Amino acid sequence: MQMISPVEFFRSLPPKKCTECGENIVEQAESYLMECDRCLSKRDE
Ligand SMILES: [Zn+2]
Repeated sequence: MQMISPVEFFRSLPPKKCTECGENIVEQAESYLMECDRCLSKRDE
């Protein structure tokens, strides 16, 4: 039996993409965000 460590699990995930423009999202502390900084700032207007 092989155990996959949480680190390996997250590494195998594809990079997150913005749901608005499809741009890759750089992982940040606020990883619940599904949109890139650009689209998020557009939303605030
Ligand atoms: Zn975006």
